[in-house]
Amino acid sequence: MAERISTLVLFGATGDLARRMLLPSLYGLDSDGLLPDHLRIIGTARSDLDDVGFRAQADAALREFLPEGFYAAGIAERLVSRLHYVPVDITKPDTFASLAKAIGDPCHGVGILLSTAPTLFKPAIDGLGAAGLACPTVRMALEKPLGTDLESSREINDAVGAAFPEDRIFRIDHYLGKETVQNLLALRFANVLFEPLWNSTHIDHVQITVAETIGVEGRGDYYDQAGALRDMVQNHMLQLLALVAREPPTDFSAAAVRDEKVKVLRSLRPIDPANSVTGQYTKGAIDGEPVPGYAEEIGHDSNTETFVALKVHIDNWRWKGVPFYLRTGKRMPERDTEIVIQFRDVPYSIFASRGAATRPNKLVIDLQPEEQISLHLMAKAPGLDRGGIRLREVQLDIGLANAFSEHRRRIAYERLLLDLIEGDPTLFVRRDEVEAQWAWIDRIRSAWAEKCLTPRPYAAGTWGPSAAIALAERDGISWHE
Ligand code: NAP
Repeated sequence: MAERISTLVLFGATGDLARRMLLPSLYGLDSDGLLPDHLRIIGTARSDLDDVGFRAQADAALREFLPEGFYAAGIAERLVSRLHYVPVDITKPDTFASLAKAIGDPCHGVGILLSTAPTLFKPAIDGLGAAGLACPTVRMALEKPLGTDLESSREINDAVGAAFPEDRIFRIDHYLGKETVQNLLALRFANVLFEPLWNSTHIDHVQITVAETIGVEGRGDYYDQAGALRDMVQNHMLQLLALVAREPPTDFSAAAVRDEKVKVLRSLRPIDPANSVTGQYTKGAIDGEPVPGYAEEIGHDSNTETFVALKVHIDNWRWKGVPFYLRTGKRMPERDTEIVIQFRDVPYSIFASRGAATRPNKLVIDLQPEEQISLHLMAKAPGLDRGGIRLREVQLDIGLANAFSEHRRRIAYERLLLDLIEGDPTLFVRRDEVEAQWAWIDRIRSAWAEKCLTPRPYAAGTWGPSAAIALAERDGISWHE
């Protein structure tokens, strides 16, 4: 294992992500004794704060965002005493000198996390380089989004690659830190049960849904530039797809695990616009509460999609002829992230002559709001069967929270921050993965632009435009709800 770092630098330390996720994650790690004893955490942003002011802000964030009952004054004090603050304006190169001074000798190992707008990545890396902080004992982590298309992502990758070698660049996709997402590896490759069936002979199709009930939540400027395709599909959904579809890695090394993902991403067939549906929410209701439409929320008309559904093919031996249906949207009726593996029906049913119908098996992997895996199987309904056999679908459920009730449910960033501190890049996204993702996404956007496609309206609180339902139903498939 690589050396643990002794200083963690958080750019964007006063921002939303730091307050809601990064600081609570560091608290979680500290409460379990997992942070190195002498780890210092230096927060930076433009705000005019000192150590005392930053510590007070951090403590307030912990009180606000830690799960109920988890805040303990002693642990918070220990974490907060590790915190320091140095104001840096990334756009002003001379302000990096004070950061370098606060870090001191970087030979002791430094991890730097850029949790700022991606337009600031290049100037930040230039500033760090000029201040002597791009040396071999420094690791660089970057929050998503890594650009807005292949070209801008290459620019960021070139800039960071000029200062840091690939094995010290940690590109974050926080879905990879989620326990259930990592469990996909165990489910597939630590059990003999599924892998022989995990191919086009036995799987009819796969569905991946990432549904949010929230709207743009004050991030309208960013979201209106991005849209659902770039905000969700390019990163989280393509990572989930790659994890479901990949071949077994040769071992658990970062290289082997990521090699298999990139092979899937490069095998994605370009999308025919007829296999895509975009939508934008209009006013409606969620949980009985009225909510405004997207245009009203952001204050102007827009052609940005807040919903996208795609029928995707992976052109390789394993997945020939197996469609992957992807859909994601804002203002859906419920918050739900799930993967559904729909198996084929039995080739011949001996029960048909006794009046009973079979339904194909299904494996449902829920990531949000609950982490759960359910296998849908056919079973005989109890009875003496005088009037014929009755079969019923039953669920074999593994509620991960119950199966591992002795373990605390962690924030995804806990795992990723610890891996950054310890230097394990396995759960971070490699340059070739990001670029394969963008190359595929860019082709979809160009095809939409060529056909002048604009998003179809859907009422908030529904599952998107009816065309999305038709996208699956014309293949005889219903979205899993
Ligand atoms: P945010 O709330 O707008 O925070 C941005 C941070 O950057 C603040 O600390 C801000 O502090 C600092 N900053 C802005 N301009 C700066 C400059 N010129 N020099 C130095 N610091 C500067 O954004 P966020 O929501 O935390 O998101 C941070 C990044 O994570 C973004 O790229 C976002 O897309 C990504 N992300 C966020 C979330 C989320 O849930 N929030 C989820 C996934 C990814 P000052 O104003 O004090 O400078």
